[in-house]
Amino acid sequence: MQQIINEINRLKKEKNAIILAHNYQLPEVQDVADFIGDSLGLAQKASKVDASIIVLCGVYFMAETAKIINPDKKVLIPDPGAGCPLAAFADKKTVLEWRKRYPEAAFVAYVNSTADVKAVVDICCTSSNALQVVASLPQKQVVFLPDKNLGSYVKSKIKDKEIILWPGFCIVHENVEVEDVLEVKKIYPDALVMVHPECREEVRALADSICSTGQMFDFVEHHKDVKRFIVVTEWGINYALKRRFLEKEFIEPKRRMECQNMKKITLKKILNSLENEYFEVKIDRETIEKARIPIEKMLTVG
Ligand code: SF4
Repeated sequence: MQQIINEINRLKKEKNAIILAHNYQLPEVQDVADFIGDSLGLAQKASKVDASIIVLCGVYFMAETAKIINPDKKVLIPDPGAGCPLAAFADKKTVLEWRKRYPEAAFVAYVNSTADVKAVVDICCTSSNALQVVASLPQKQVVFLPDKNLGSYVKSKIKDKEIILWPGFCIVHENVEVEDVLEVKKIYPDALVMVHPECREEVRALADSICSTGQMFDFVEHHKDVKRFIVVTEWGINYALKRRFLEKEFIEPKRRMECQNMKKITLKKILNSLENEYFEVKIDRETIEKARIPIEKMLTVG
């Protein structure tokens, strides 16, 4: 393994490449990354990098987002089969049909959506900034897509708008049960519970804090006296949290939450990607131009 890591580091320098990795990536992938973050963090980082090549270790829509923000850079994803089943819930044709059905509504797309879908919505959001984004809109009616759980969280907080939910969900977060959390809470009653907003309402109700993966770092930071946290999201984040907060303990729900797609990215695939400069993310110019607008609007909100 060390030999692969050395080669990755050598090629990064030689090719002026940067590795961006999502918090849900395998521990060894996080270890070779130059930057680790949530979707918003990766999008913001991608907008600032001066490398010639971006290797995006995450799922496909994240690599597309990096390409949309950096159209003149080479963006690589080590495994193009790393898709996001949540993003697959919304396609451009159906979004356009809904736009006809709700002509007055603002269309808000969670970044977990394809470039084609981003190109036909008004603004994007992440789980970090969904509340601010929706609150910032002048429209009274909002169609929130594709995640009904994040949408219902936004709906529970923003009462002065009619929020229409798209019927999509993330299978990893949808499947976690109340008992999975309560059973570990019984063992560690002193632990604070952090729940990702892609979880269902009844699971979110158990949270001391509902937060995106990025916000989980802030929550831990602000609770200096607390030793343990139950982390209700994909388990890769626990490694990222532990790297930063060595003295704390991060506990998974009883049943492990694992995103098979995130875990498709391996060190070997990263090495292949750097060596052969594949798999390059390609999006046509028109889609890039159109999809860029809602992403940039989001970045101005926060
Ligand atoms: S955890 Fe869920 S939303 Fe995130 S990439 Fe996997 S399937 Fe998509």
